Amino acid sequence: MSRALTIYDHQSAGRPGRRGPEPPAGALADIPAHLLRPEPPQLPEVDELGVVRHYTALSHRTYSITRGFYPLGSCTMKYNPAINEMVAALPGFSGLHPDAPAEYSQGTLELMWHLERALCAITGLYRVTLQPAAGAHGEFCGMLLFRAWHRAQGRNPTYVVVPDSAHGTNPASAALAGYQVKVVRSGPDGLVDGNHLAEIVDADCAGLMLTNPNTLGLFERDIRRIANIVHDAGGLVYMDGANLNALLGIARSGDMGVDVLHMNLHKTFATPHGGGGPGAGPVAVAERLAPFLPRPTVERDADGGFYLDYDRPHSIGRLHAAHGNVGVLVRAYCYIVALGGNGLCRVSRTAVLSANYLRARLRGVFPIAHDRPCMHEFVLSLRNLREQGLHAWDVCKRLMDFGVHPPTVGFPINVPESLMIETPETEPPEMLDRFADALIQIAREARDTPDMVSSAPHTTVIGRLDEARAVRQPDLCWKPRPQQNPED
Ligand SMILES: *Cc1c(COP(=O)(O)O)cnc(C)c1O
Repeated sequence: MSRALTIYDHQSAGRPGRRGPEPPAGALADIPAHLLRPEPPQLPEVDELGVVRHYTALSHRTYSITRGFYPLGSCTMKYNPAINEMVAALPGFSGLHPDAPAEYSQGTLELMWHLERALCAITGLYRVTLQPAAGAHGEFCGMLLFRAWHRAQGRNPTYVVVPDSAHGTNPASAALAGYQVKVVRSGPDGLVDGNHLAEIVDADCAGLMLTNPNTLGLFERDIRRIANIVHDAGGLVYMDGANLNALLGIARSGDMGVDVLHMNLHKTFATPHGGGGPGAGPVAVAERLAPFLPRPTVERDADGGFYLDYDRPHSIGRLHAAHGNVGVLVRAYCYIVALGGNGLCRVSRTAVLSANYLRARLRGVFPIAHDRPCMHEFVLSLRNLREQGLHAWDVCKRLMDFGVHPPTVGFPINVPESLMIETPETEPPEMLDRFADALIQIAREARDTPDMVSSAPHTTVIGRLDEARAVRQPDLCWKPRPQQNPED
């Protein structure tokens, strides 16, 4: 397979003296001298079309949900409706100064107030802080709430229990808040082993961090018993709700005995994410934890006006400048309002149906870690490929040749050679079929022509690279490349 030849070569673009539009005479005079570069930058000289082509060519190298299927388990890469972008761009939201006083930001505060109520209704919990900027930030907030609550009871427990299937941010957040971490095993059914939990929990336990559905895509059906074990020992139950895509309008964490929950608006509620961009990880709490929430909170006064309440003496303090990532909050609110309660319920039903459809189509192609009805995602174990000298990541690389973003690989870590597949509600059935067909073909190749898989991808600009080095020493700046002889 060869790469397409392109006439445009961004490395050799530009000729001395070529330029874009000249700024009007005198326009540069207003720029303070210290902001002007003494020397021109060492960049190719290009005209406006050259600049546009350069960035357009680069954008074609980037993969996103707007290009194709993105079955990244646990990450819920769903379509982000364009209307959300339009609403977030309204000047009243996008142009608001972060420090604007409440009387000038009534619209934004009103939206935040309603978003909090909507998230309370969805989760069955009492109050929500919108400040945390990501899931991991929400977890950290949750762990600070654990501490504050225990201190208020005159307790100082030392550890938090985390299942072996947990997202890596869970133990990290507990440790960052000063807790030791104890690991509770999953049983052969992929669910938390309640007996093991009962053995390791004692009066020194601050609580449990649990993902439900767990990272195997399975619903922890003993959640009430699990919560009781922790509560009876004096601990609290934290739920990692980064991904609520299976539960919307179907089950509420508050009814399951959960005390603290974070949600990733950038996963479940269709706001863009990835690449380190802004997210939001609101934290919902049961009534007894509400006094400790970050301040300020958004409140409504008797006349229907909105204000920020700083007078919260038990608060753990502020977790984000201004009001959090407000643009993300606007998009999520727009998604929730556009769908309404029934629409959200349909989101979850469709996501769960899609995942189970795909699971059924892949049965017999690759072993499924726990082959029974799943929630919004499921996990394959590709350990048999080791006989061919192949790994799960080889299948991921080969999938890229089919124009698909690879699923999550190597997580959860309690499944060998895992591939975690999530199918959000926005994917049509024919896309699921094409994806299943691709995996079926790759399984055949792995058996008959394993080189085809181990040397993939064959169609991308860059094939296999040293991934550890690419992360540690990223090469992000344009550098001139010596001109090559086209005959080479
Ligand atoms: C994504 C995710 C997180 C972390 O969320 P970030 O916004 O990336 O910090 C935590 N737990 C689970 C289960 C997740 O899927």
